[in-house]
Amino acid sequence: MKEYDVAICGYGPVGAVLSILLAQYGHTVCIIEKNNGPSPTARAINTDAEQLRVFDKFGIANMVVENSNQIDRVHFSDVNLQPIQTIDQPKGDSKMGWPNQVLFYQPELESFLRDTVSTYKNIDVIESCELIDFLDDQTSVNLICKKQSENFEIKAKYLIGCDGASSFVRKKLKIQLEDLGYNQKWLVCDAHLTKDINLKNELIQVCDPKRPCTFLHGRRGHLRFEFRVMPNDNEEDFKNEEIIWDLLSPWVNKNNAFLERAVIYKFHACIANEWFKDKVLIAGDAAHQMPPFMGAGMGTGIRDVANIAWKLDLILKNKASKKILTTLKEERYPHAKWTVAQTITIGEIIEGFCAAAKGKEYKPKSTGYGVRFPHIPKGIFSNPDDRITGYPIPQPRITIDKKTVMLDEVIRSKFVIITKCDSYEISKEAKDVVDYLAIEYLHLSDDDDPDGRLNKIFETYQFVLVRPDLYVYGGSSKNDLSKMIVSLKTMFFLMNN
Ligand SMILES: Cc1cc2nc3c(=O)[nH]c(=O)nc-3n(C[C@H](O)[C@H](O)[C@H](O)COP(=O)(O)OP(=O)(O)OC[C@H]3O[C@@H](n4cnc5c(N)ncnc54)[C@H](O)[C@@H]3O)c2cc1C
Repeated sequence: MKEYDVAICGYGPVGAVLSILLAQYGHTVCIIEKNNGPSPTARAINTDAEQLRVFDKFGIANMVVENSNQIDRVHFSDVNLQPIQTIDQPKGDSKMGWPNQVLFYQPELESFLRDTVSTYKNIDVIESCELIDFLDDQTSVNLICKKQSENFEIKAKYLIGCDGASSFVRKKLKIQLEDLGYNQKWLVCDAHLTKDINLKNELIQVCDPKRPCTFLHGRRGHLRFEFRVMPNDNEEDFKNEEIIWDLLSPWVNKNNAFLERAVIYKFHACIANEWFKDKVLIAGDAAHQMPPFMGAGMGTGIRDVANIAWKLDLILKNKASKKILTTLKEERYPHAKWTVAQTITIGEIIEGFCAAAKGKEYKPKSTGYGVRFPHIPKGIFSNPDDRITGYPIPQPRITIDKKTVMLDEVIRSKFVIITKCDSYEISKEAKDVVDYLAIEYLHLSDDDDPDGRLNKIFETYQFVLVRPDLYVYGGSSKNDLSKMIVSLKTMFFLMNN
């Protein structure tokens, strides 16, 4: 029976990213996927700078940006597409070193991910193969897989269910989904321009009480439309292309576009109440689902696996105890729940404008779950209200060996302490932790960071400790530096140190 460090069920974007992050640490990975080839359907279309930084860890961020579109603005509009509220979208690189929002084409992204996976000798991909059972015993997880009606077994130290919304792994673990109160059907259409018709480069949330809808101008003429299925609709009607073209008519017609697909999705807002049991974890849509108004479902999954990868690495290298997995839910659950809640809020803003168009008042229900975006409230050292701790570190340009590089090229997937101080001392206990985790120091000079992206940090702290997932663990003065470093021992259940 073949043995791996980690088995991943599901070769969607989340499983693919996790496999690469783990392979980069040198672990052996097996991906089991019931389908064959990348999913041909464009579901996710929007991604952000934080995910681009994850993609950059394995060199595909530039390709994603080159094959994407950055829209000029977002509107909430009335039925005639007249703006009610407009948000201008800044273009170009944000302080994260990448654009804040790019619209991509999911089949293309999945092909970039799969091409990358194929370059790692320590990742095996078994497609047309379904995970049908697993048993988590004292030492490992035994997986029973079915391929071409033959069952076979593989063994892994850990199993991660990245197996999507109807996750078999989640169900088998008897993990419940908390329903956050949004269940609506929407018709999702993808079309492609065949002629340049000067379509505005926008994202529009059309607040039409008769049928709210969303329009996004994707990359190279890819257009995404989402129409709410209304109570009186006959869903069979949406199989009729003429009816679809009628819906698309404010923007395009048969003479200037072709229709790739029109499919009804049931959008849910829910989150798993547990994220792992012993050696089996869930991530991505298996752990949370949300309506696509914020374009953040896949992104939330990628944040999950960026968080999981370095923690599993510490476990697999016997540097941290399995208890580190308890930090997964503590860190990711409130953040993911905030994101789900925020997408519901956008839905509620649309409902509010629709109600106003009918002269009615609408009272939203959702709350923010006490966390800001993009912020993790746990797994951190210093004051979470400083707007530094628990946030991704901004990404400046710096100079290393007379070469200008971006900060992430130095951090990669390590712990790094960044400072402008030339002299400092740390305790023996802190030094042991630095050696144990191979924490690197990065000394910045006044010539580094020409755009001042780290100014706020260095106005507040002399040292900042960045986690391998690029989140700021904490900041300190010279006096507190040892305390901050030593706190990693208890925070992340480090062993033998
Ligand atoms: C219309 C729409 C628009 C969206 N827009 C956005 C957006 O703009 N931005 C964004 O970030 N997100 C968006 N999302 C959400 C995004 O598509 C999902 O969050 C993302 O695809 C989830 O990725 P995943 O890898 O977790 O799961 P999936 O992509 O669902 O992959 C799961 C994989 O597991 C496999 N699998 C399942 N069970 C088994 C088994 N037992 N054995 C073997 N394999 C199995 C499946 O075949 C599948 O390939 C959108 C979703 C929809 C529907």
